[in-house]
Amino acid sequence: MSGGIETPYVLCALVASWHPTLRRVLADSDPAARGAIAFTASPEIAPWEPSAVMLLGDAIHTIPPIGGLGGNTAMRDARLLSQQLSSVARGERDLLDAVRDCEAEMRDYGYAAIRAALKDQSLATGRLGALTTRAWFRLCHAVPALRQRTFRRWDAAAAPRPWEHRATAA
Ligand SMILES: Cc1cc2nc3c(=O)[nH]c(=O)nc-3n(C[C@H](O)[C@H](O)[C@H](O)COP(=O)(O)OP(=O)(O)OC[C@H]3O[C@@H](n4cnc5c(N)ncnc54)[C@H](O)[C@@H]3O)c2cc1C
Repeated sequence: MSGGIETPYVLCALVASWHPTLRRVLADSDPAARGAIAFTASPEIAPWEPSAVMLLGDAIHTIPPIGGLGGNTAMRDARLLSQQLSSVARGERDLLDAVRDCEAEMRDYGYAAIRAALKDQSLATGRLGALTTRAWFRLCHAVPALRQRTFRRWDAAAAPRPWEHRATAA
């Protein structure tokens, strides 16, 4: 952690109210493996000229880790790129056109995922927000219908795109 603060002491204070087992996991972990991560989100930027260099995953759309979308979206990028490169290899497409389409598609679903994550992040702002969120998740855990309703919006961010339907059908 920066600023000369000893991470273990900060951690102890932050997790003081956690379950003893979780505190034990942290206490027994390698101090070098502990650290603080600031949640960040990419700004939405205008399209750029395609080239032989492409950004994928967090490099093009850093998604705050709310909803478990970042890694999944990075794998979606890899699948899209492999499909596009296969069609270039078969001589069906020009490389730069394929890159342009890939980047446009990644910006579209990637930025939608960022917006979805940022919307939910506001739930946990401050102590009252954190307590409310925790109570809500406990309620969702106890009531399946509420759980489905609450988490359905994540399905929208991860819903299959037309090219994914085509790839599944093939
Ligand atoms: C706390 C937390 C929880 C998360 N939980 C989830 C989750 O539950 N589900 C989910 O889907 N996603 C989750 N994510 C998001 C997920 O981890 C990222 O979206 C995903 O790892 C992005 O993959 P990536 O390959 O684009 O980037 P990275 O995984 O960051 O990989 C980039 C790699 O490049 C390396 N690198 C960087 N610079 C250089 C350089 N100059 N030269 C060589 N190598 C370099 C880095 O060391 C790194 O290994 C979470 C993220 C955080 C922080």
